[in-house]
Amino acid sequence: MNTLHPQTQLLHSDRFRGAEHAAGHQPIHKSVQWGYEHAQDIADTFQNKRSGFTYARGGNPTTAALEAQINLLEQGIGTISFATGMAAISTVILALLKDGDHLVASQYLFGNTTSLFSTLAAHGVSISYVDVTDVEQLKAAIQPNTRMVFVETLANPRTQIADLMGIGDVCKAQGLVYVVDATMSTPALLRTKDCGASIVMNSLSKGLAGHGAVLGGSLTDTGLFDWSNYPNIFEGYRVGDPKNWGLLQLRKKGLRDIGGALSADSAQQIALGLETFFLRSERACRNALMLAQWLLAHPAVEHVDYPGLPQHPQHDRANVLFAGKGYGTLLSFTIKDGVKHPFEVLDALKVVMMSTGLGDNRSMALPVAQTIYAEMSAERRADWGITDGLIRVSVGIEHIDDLVADWAQALD
Ligand SMILES: *Cc1c(COP(=O)(O)O)cnc(C)c1O
Repeated sequence: MNTLHPQTQLLHSDRFRGAEHAAGHQPIHKSVQWGYEHAQDIADTFQNKRSGFTYARGGNPTTAALEAQINLLEQGIGTISFATGMAAISTVILALLKDGDHLVASQYLFGNTTSLFSTLAAHGVSISYVDVTDVEQLKAAIQPNTRMVFVETLANPRTQIADLMGIGDVCKAQGLVYVVDATMSTPALLRTKDCGASIVMNSLSKGLAGHGAVLGGSLTDTGLFDWSNYPNIFEGYRVGDPKNWGLLQLRKKGLRDIGGALSADSAQQIALGLETFFLRSERACRNALMLAQWLLAHPAVEHVDYPGLPQHPQHDRANVLFAGKGYGTLLSFTIKDGVKHPFEVLDALKVVMMSTGLGDNRSMALPVAQTIYAEMSAERRADWGITDGLIRVSVGIEHIDDLVADWAQALD
């Protein structure tokens, strides 16, 4: 079955994995407890010598089926699901870093990730923020106590694209855990493992589910990192093949202790969305490119950020990384001074939802500086190039003519 394309494998994955009665969907397992017939079996399960379920906070058969699907898309050695993307990020940070460690992170991070990282200092982890479009800046920030590098593939809202390959080479040479938040590129555009990522993080609440009716997150170990020399693996997890030590600590210490477990109901909701993921991604990326080109040509529009436009600073990098599969579903733009207030344009939208959503099947737009970055200082916003007039658009799968018509009537 490994010769099939990921799209095909994904659709049949539950049946191929042996779901009861060859059902097309893994059933929702509500049970929190599992019974064992032999004491040796439950002992072996607890001691990681045998696979099995013990208590649902550490996973259940429905979340396991979803994890297999995400793992297939990311081509990892194992995947762990979480209640939200933020639970996944909190877990990777708390389970793998300790007091005295140093983290190098992208300066263009999802707002809540920045917020989480700002609390890390209080727990003894220091952080350097760098412009990850330039690998030299990242190199210069590495210290003797640096353990981890955390970047996003495609930044929100201005769509900067990190030098993912260059950073992968540096992390490999220096033995750093390379964590990549791939939420905005998704496995439809990029196999993040090919950039050298140690761990790929996805928010399943966005494009992977697509319907915007569920929250979830995941961490995939790509198998590229050598955990045998990583100093923060606890003694109890230094058992068996060192390839699995990272996953073991993330699941046993991270997921179990922190408790951000995904429910079985949510896992199935995400899996139902995943079925159409590749189809939806094609349509939404095509819509986004067409809308970006249309906005760029509009007389009221000052500037458009979209990796598919030749003007984009990392357009060539996008062509290499995404290899013609699309340029994502996120774009941002500004309106020329004195033409119309951005709020007036947003208020006039009829089809496009004014909402904070990303990767939703429905198109959504919002003023960035006054909402998701309102907590940030004006100085920091200026550093990021987030002006007061910046409008972010997450492009959905509607008919492109309806999207263009909606923006046309709002801008005119
Ligand atoms: C939404 C998002 C997250 C957080 O995911 P949740 O599921 O909302 O917790 C993390 N990173 C990026 C890039 C996101 O867009």
